[in-house]
Amino acid sequence: MLNSINSFNSVSYNSQVGSVGTENSGAVQAKGVEINYNPQDELVMDPQVISMPSIHAGKGTLEGDNVQFVRKEQLEPNKDGQYVYTPGTREFVSSVTMATVQKTIDAMSEKFGKIEWAFGGDKIGLASDAGVDFNAYYSRNDASLNFFHGLDPVTNQTVFSGSSGEVVSHEVGHAILDAQRPGYLTTWQADTNGFHEAFGDLTGLFMATQSDEVCAMAAKETGGDLHKPNCLAASGELLGRAINNSYGKNVTGGDYVRNYINDFKWQAPRTVPRNPSGTDPLTTEMHSWSRIFTGAQYDVMAGIVEKKMADGMDAAAAIKAAGNDSMTLLAEAVKMAPQRDVTYRDLALLMLKADANNGGEYHDIVLNTMMDRNILFEGDDTPNDMSMASMAPSREMTITLNGPEFGKFAGAEVTGTVPGGFNALDSNPADGLAQDMKQLIQNGCILYTEPNQTVEKKDLFDKDGHPYIGVVRWTDGKMVIERNMMIG
Ligand SMILES: [Zn+2]
Repeated sequence: MLNSINSFNSVSYNSQVGSVGTENSGAVQAKGVEINYNPQDELVMDPQVISMPSIHAGKGTLEGDNVQFVRKEQLEPNKDGQYVYTPGTREFVSSVTMATVQKTIDAMSEKFGKIEWAFGGDKIGLASDAGVDFNAYYSRNDASLNFFHGLDPVTNQTVFSGSSGEVVSHEVGHAILDAQRPGYLTTWQADTNGFHEAFGDLTGLFMATQSDEVCAMAAKETGGDLHKPNCLAASGELLGRAINNSYGKNVTGGDYVRNYINDFKWQAPRTVPRNPSGTDPLTTEMHSWSRIFTGAQYDVMAGIVEKKMADGMDAAAAIKAAGNDSMTLLAEAVKMAPQRDVTYRDLALLMLKADANNGGEYHDIVLNTMMDRNILFEGDDTPNDMSMASMAPSREMTITLNGPEFGKFAGAEVTGTVPGGFNALDSNPADGLAQDMKQLIQNGCILYTEPNQTVEKKDLFDKDGHPYIGVVRWTDGKMVIERNMMIG
């Protein structure tokens, strides 16, 4: 979820977390529950109480159709049989996190069909509070979503990342994209990694727009002009404020983790610095780089709202419809997208194609928005003639890093993808991959390990509490840099 600047506590990971569901106590009753849910953020609105047929009670806990606690989190209903608790309590965090994960899966399944997890199995694991940190992450290796807590030093409030709908849906978005395109967690490319983060944010945005209460609030804030500041554009408000209060300065740009109102434009990633990952300027650190695509897609949604209002819809209804339609476009694009690597341009072209397949209602909105962002260019406006050759599948390539510029990583073998399409600008793809690795190594994004070192889970996070992008593994005396299958 976070920028790497945001997380300053070392990760407190509970090493006892085992495989999913090992301590769950068997089958639970097949009936839905009344439960807390907050599609936005605690700082913006109070939690709702909703009925969820896809979550079931029994054996002193809850379990969803597609999610279960990694270790049993004890939950008993109140006298009315509801799983409704006081915000800030352990029971509240457990239940609201469970509700958000399952509700996000339910809504995204309508776009993608049944979710086949990248890690196999029917249910994703959930640790609603895995220790002290201002953080949250998805781990394919552990088949789980992990949330944490930290103390806001100014308000003295304990902030749980699992209690923000936007933060939780973001992490579920990672897991859902990983299910659709597992190759995207094996790449070193800036656009593909940035898209993973953008997809998380856009999943949170979509979920927020599907709440009538949130749409009414955003309509009131903006009158339907989503370029004005509003609760939809700002994500993770409570967590963002706690982070800023902890730093004693405004590191995220406001009381949020990220804000989708921006005017960042795409440029060739290798011409942009990798770090630092702060709010400004734009870097190729994945959360930073994601803001180009998220901002563009947010603008597409804003354009759809404008169109619907021009057609006579009221602002709140237009926001809800636009949230749904823009996620449909994105999901249809992902279903057609290349398997291993994707560029922002590929995705924008595929959204045009998806829209054309659906009657072409939003063609001009998508095209003009993406051209404003330097994601699409003149000549990209005829989806029927669109050259799918520009999305030629990436090739896999293994190289050995040679040269003093790689320091202790010299001699390491690394497998990466070489873009097959529009971005295949390298006359020598191996050099391009080596150049990307050099940038990642020099910016501390790859964890070095010794040949006989036991690598524990906590080692896979950098000093800012962020998962390293890659890690050195030793196989038969050979150094290999592997992609870390965790993403925050
Ligand atoms: Zn993320």
